[in-house]
Amino acid sequence: MPEGHSVHRTAKQFQKLLLNQPLQVLSPQGRFTDAAVVSGQSLTKSEAWGKQLLLHFETAAIRVHLGIYGKWSFSKFEESPPEPTGQVRARFLTESQVVDLRGPTVCEAIDFTQIGSLFERLGPDPLRPDPRGESRERFIERVLRRKVPIGQLLMDQSVLAGVGNVYRAELLFRAGLSPFTPGNKLPAELVGAIWDDASMLMPLGVKTGLMLTRDGYLNGRPKKDDRYSVYKREGLPCRQCGTNIAIDLMQARKLYWCPKCQA
Ligand SMILES: [Zn+2]
Repeated sequence: MPEGHSVHRTAKQFQKLLLNQPLQVLSPQGRFTDAAVVSGQSLTKSEAWGKQLLLHFETAAIRVHLGIYGKWSFSKFEESPPEPTGQVRARFLTESQVVDLRGPTVCEAIDFTQIGSLFERLGPDPLRPDPRGESRERFIERVLRRKVPIGQLLMDQSVLAGVGNVYRAELLFRAGLSPFTPGNKLPAELVGAIWDDASMLMPLGVKTGLMLTRDGYLNGRPKKDDRYSVYKREGLPCRQCGTNIAIDLMQARKLYWCPKCQA
């Protein structure tokens, strides 16, 4: 499943290629009945909050959540757009640019009130500006009042928006923290440090499209085998202490950690 950095990348692509242009919004499969609500209007803004993408038009916004299978494709064309191939749920069209969306969990029109309540429901996103540190405070507060394990809280989009399985595993390793520690047993400074670390790492993901998480490998394009400290490294020796990386299921999602460095 794409993590927040890739949703923010898509938002930027829309900003760069389609902003302030009237878009034809189409439903090739016939399943995106809200297309007509905004079709013909200009795209006024595109933004991400965690894993949610919002395309703002004049009278409403389109909300997209890719889920596990969703995918975007952007392409240019000269005379006429290519026929949609495969299961295209939504198509956004200008005179020279076509953007197709396949397989999302959510693709719907919402009004401005619904946008407000969506943003209220979501936890803070380390990729959104936080000049006064309010998002950081909100994250700390939401972690500290919960008794569930921090490994679970980092994946809870109402606590922290945008982090998925890769960043979860790597952030906890970097913090030297057991994924099983309950939120309310953590010192506020440590929770704040996790926020700061996410705020440092995730913009690198937006910039490069890669989830760069290892010191010494934060620049450039590390090989796949070098990329992570614990994610998908179960059974391999920890790069720091040599202990075998462990794997478990936490709420049906694979969890990776070093039992010694993260005791
Ligand atoms: Zn270790």
